[in-house]
Amino acid sequence: MNGARISLLGSQHDKLIADLEAHPDGHEKAAVVLFRRLHIPVEGLPDSDRYVAQDVIPFEDDWIRGSSPAHVAFDLAPLRELFRRCEDEGLVFGFVHNHPAGPTSFSHIDEENERTLVAAIRNRNGCNMTFVAMLWADGQWVARTRSGSSPDRSVPVRHTLVLGERITLNGYAESSDEHSEVQARQTAAFGRPFVDMLQSLRVGVVGNSGTGSPFSTLGARAGIGEFVLIDKDPLAESNLSRVRGLMKRDVGLAKSETLKTFIESIGISVCVAAVASDLDTNPDAVDALASCDVIVGCTDDFCGRELMNAALYAYAQPFIDIGLGGRVDEGQDGQPCLRYHYGRVSTILPESGQCLFCQGVINDIWIQTQLARRENPGITPEELKERYLEDGDTNAPGVGPFTSATADFALATLFDLLKPFRRFSPELRRDMFFLDFVTMEIRSHQTQDDPDCPYCGTHEFLLLKDSCRLNRPFLGKRDEYS
Ligand SMILES: [Zn+2]
Ligand SMILES: [Zn+2]
Repeated sequence: MNGARISLLGSQHDKLIADLEAHPDGHEKAAVVLFRRLHIPVEGLPDSDRYVAQDVIPFEDDWIRGSSPAHVAFDLAPLRELFRRCEDEGLVFGFVHNHPAGPTSFSHIDEENERTLVAAIRNRNGCNMTFVAMLWADGQWVARTRSGSSPDRSVPVRHTLVLGERITLNGYAESSDEHSEVQARQTAAFGRPFVDMLQSLRVGVVGNSGTGSPFSTLGARAGIGEFVLIDKDPLAESNLSRVRGLMKRDVGLAKSETLKTFIESIGISVCVAAVASDLDTNPDAVDALASCDVIVGCTDDFCGRELMNAALYAYAQPFIDIGLGGRVDEGQDGQPCLRYHYGRVSTILPESGQCLFCQGVINDIWIQTQLARRENPGITPEELKERYLEDGDTNAPGVGPFTSATADFALATLFDLLKPFRRFSPELRRDMFFLDFVTMEIRSHQTQDDPDCPYCGTHEFLLLKDSCRLNRPFLGKRDEYS
C-alpha cells in the first residue's frame, strides 16, 4: 500500500482535539503540526514516508480572519515564522482543521487553502518541501500530503496512528475481497475494520528465530500487510526444532531472507523486506526499523534490545518485546529437570508503560558484557569478573512449544493494542507479564518507578531530533533522510 503514514503521540492528539473542539459556537478551528519526515526507501516494500509529529501549535485568535461552523479563514503572515522553523529544523508543515458540521472529507475550500499554503511555503523554502493536511471530522483523522514539485496533486495518507495507552488507527483503506475470504474467521471475531488495520501496518521483527519466525509467519496469515525482518544470523541446525517456515535445506542461509521467501510463498497479500545484519551496528537496519509502525523484539541480544528501547521513543513506535528465561538442573533420576521456565511479553508505548531498563529486562552490565564478548570472544569468566561484568539472564532452554506460545501471546498483544479485548486483573500489568510454563500462571512483577529514567521518566529520547541515529555517532549521520 502506498501513501505516507502519520504518527501522533496521545498527548499531541489530546491537545489538538481540545483546541479544535473548543469554539463556543461550534465554529471550525485550525492548528499547525510540525512533523519530522522519515523518508526511508526499504527494498521490497512500497514507498511510504512516515511523518512523526514533533510539535502541536494551536492557531492564536488573531491569526483567524473569520470562521463559522463551515469555514475558517486565516492570515498567512503569522505562519511565516513557522515556515522559517520548518526550514531551519528540517521539519514539515502540517495544516490541521476540523469540520464540526461535516463533511467527513476534504472540501473544495480546503483544496484552495492547501494550494495557497504550499505556494507560500515553496516560495520561501524551495520546491524540495512536502506538506501535510489533516482533517478532524466525526471523531476520525483524515489526512493527505502534497509536495512542492507537484503542489496541485494531493496523495491520501495510508493511515494516522494515535499512540496513547493503545493504538488508534484512522483513515486506513478497506482491504480487498480476496483478503476478506482468508480472514473470514478473524473478521467474525474482531470485525472487518480490525483486519483492515492489520493490513495497513508495517511491523518490524528483530530476531527471526524461535519467537520471531512464529510471530511473523502467523502475523502474515493474520493479515499484517508489511514486514521488515531483521536478523544477521544464518539458520543453525539446532534452530529447526522451534522455527516456523524454515527448512533443513535453509541451514547456513540468512534467517531473515529465507523467512521472507517463505512468507511470500504463503500466497496471501503481504510485502516483506529482509535485512541480514545486526540492528545495533548497521545504519541501514536502524533506518529500516525506523520506517515501521510497530516494533516486535524477538532477540535475546541485550544491545539490540537497548537500541529498540531507544527507537520506540525516538521514532514514536509501539514496542512489543518477547523474552524467555528459565533454569534446567538435574532431577532425582539423573535426567535434566525444568525447574522454572517463563515467557515474557513487554508492551511499551512512547507515553505509556515502563521501558526495558525499568522493567529489569536489560541493564548496563549485561550490555557491557555482551560488548566485551563481541570484542573478545575468548574472554574468560575470570576476566569478566575482574571488569565487574556478568552475563544476563537468558538461560532459556529454547523449547518449541514455549517459544511459540510466547510469540503467539505477543501477536495477541498486538491485536489487543489495536482492538482491546483483554480484561486485566488488577495485579497484572499491561506493560509486562510472564507466562509461567511450570506453575501455569500468568503474572507480573512490580518494578521500581524511576522518575529520572532518560527513556520512560524524563523522556530524553522522546521524538529525538539529532544528526546521529538515536544519539549514537557510530551509526552515522542521517542526512540522506531528507
Ligand atoms: Zn475544511
Ligand atoms: Zn525507564
